[in-house]
Amino acid sequence: MEGSSAKLSSAAAGQTLALGRGLVSVLREHAQRDRYARAQEEAMRSAVPSIAWAVLLIVSAYIGVQLWLRPSQVWAVWPAYGLQLLAPLAVLAGVRTRMWERHAETLFVVGEFVFTAALVSQVLSRETAIAGIAGFVAVKVMATALFVPWRARRQYASVAFTLALYGLGLVLAPHFADEPRKLHLVAVPAVAGILSVLGVAQAARLRETLLHEAADRDLAVKRLETVLDRMPVGCIISDAELRYVYWNKAAENIFGYSSDEVLGKSAVEVVTPPHLRNLSVRGFEELAQGRNTTVGPMRLENITKDGRTIICEWNAVALTDPDGAFVGMLSMCQDVTEQHRTEQARRELVGQLQEADRMRAAFVATLSHELRSPLNVILGYHELLHEGVFGTLSTAQLEVLDRIGQAARQLLELVTSTLEVSRIQAGRAALNLRLLQPLGLMEQIRSETLELQQKDGVSVEWDLSERLPPVYTDEAKLKVIVKNLLSNALKYTEAGTVKISARAVERGIEIAVSDTGPGIPEDLLPHIFEPFRRGEVDSKKSGAGLGLYLVRFFADLIGAQITVQSTVGQGSTFSVLLPIQPPGILVEPSG
Ligand code: ADP
Repeated sequence: MEGSSAKLSSAAAGQTLALGRGLVSVLREHAQRDRYARAQEEAMRSAVPSIAWAVLLIVSAYIGVQLWLRPSQVWAVWPAYGLQLLAPLAVLAGVRTRMWERHAETLFVVGEFVFTAALVSQVLSRETAIAGIAGFVAVKVMATALFVPWRARRQYASVAFTLALYGLGLVLAPHFADEPRKLHLVAVPAVAGILSVLGVAQAARLRETLLHEAADRDLAVKRLETVLDRMPVGCIISDAELRYVYWNKAAENIFGYSSDEVLGKSAVEVVTPPHLRNLSVRGFEELAQGRNTTVGPMRLENITKDGRTIICEWNAVALTDPDGAFVGMLSMCQDVTEQHRTEQARRELVGQLQEADRMRAAFVATLSHELRSPLNVILGYHELLHEGVFGTLSTAQLEVLDRIGQAARQLLELVTSTLEVSRIQAGRAALNLRLLQPLGLMEQIRSETLELQQKDGVSVEWDLSERLPPVYTDEAKLKVIVKNLLSNALKYTEAGTVKISARAVERGIEIAVSDTGPGIPEDLLPHIFEPFRRGEVDSKKSGAGLGLYLVRFFADLIGAQITVQSTVGQGSTFSVLLPIQPPGILVEPSG
């Protein structure tokens, strides 16, 4: 139960982080009051080029019409027409720069007034060209204002104002005999009116988009909250001032406080005991100052609403807005009190067992050492007796003496092996890794075991590949492994063949010792590497049942893998898979 929830939580943790980040950024955006204004600015900036084109076209068309109707007048006042073209473009370019942007609104309001003044001046003045310039500059500025999403009320007022001027122009026009003035009175407000309507339409579209976005955000927040609430781990979000802003259902279950009871409170005071508050604040500061992006996992003491002390495992992550600024912290916690206690008890028990084991190994080592001396004395006197130093012995006496000698030697072998194993177990088997050529080592083993290989009825074959890669290993330990396997094969095979092979395999070498001996019964096979485990039928053979135990022990030390295949009546094959370098050990090339 505990294990499965732990597994679940680690998978959920990653998901929660992503969700939490999303939630906070959504919450932040949601709270942004000036989002609409920012969207306006954005739209304005992006609309400026198209407005510039529109202005250019309208002014060119106007100049074209004037050229067609009154070419002489146009040539006479060409600087004025030039200004008509350049002035609005300059205003638009200005709006696009950051400096003017902030004053854009004022600029447009001023434009509206200029526009009004221009119209009034047109009506009053006889200088239609000057009035035309003023009017056009005003119209272009107006156009910019109306193209961008203006605040709704002001926008409608502006449209109404423009249309009213247009109406006024229509009413006044017939009272003026002079054609250009008539044209200005009607054309200028008409153009402004068209641009106003376009602006309103664009603003309406933008408002709708923003409304949809807001609705989508609300939905996303709801979904995220539902997911976080269903998380099996406690999810807590604190803001940049270290106050709780979110507390999910699992956190309610762990600490006993409901979300309403803690929201807004300091995130280090509710469940953190006083002596750990500084630690929590430090963790928070590390995240806030960007020195770390995550904190944990760490186990801390916490206090529940009913005053219980529990152990929780915490993971925290910094939450940042899209610009990278710190906005808060998402903490995830799990109540691991039970697990913590069990682990502590287990650690204590392991410590006690290790100590007991160390004492046992030390005791066995001392005992074996002490046993060897009297045994050697027995064997020494046995030799002397056998050689007749103390007088000639009868055949019956010699037979008994042989049995005594055999038993003493067996006992000595047992004691020696036990001593060796206990030395290793007591931690005296240091690993001595160096780069060696396996072929040379195998040849060495071959020559060192020549006597052992002289067994009647058994032929020994060596099949050593010439292309064995050099390996980082402990030579002495590898020798013990191979010699033990070889001596077992020779010991248990009465007649047949013993074959030793070595070949390169993927990422290492494989040394195999196979024989055509009696094989190992299926029920014994899983136990042959255990200490003092011997086959029933082999009790006639010398041995303490420690050979294969040592083989496995040393193989584990040098990172080799031992496999055995055996069929009763057919023989056995022991394979040693030796890696180029023991896994998990970084070997520095020597020299
Ligand atoms: P020992 O040889 O001293 O009995 P080992 O630990 O070397 O102890 O071997 C454990 C047991 O595994 C042996 O008693 C024997 O029954 C079996 N065994 C090991 N090697 C072979 C082999 N090559 N052929 C048959 N049996 C084997």
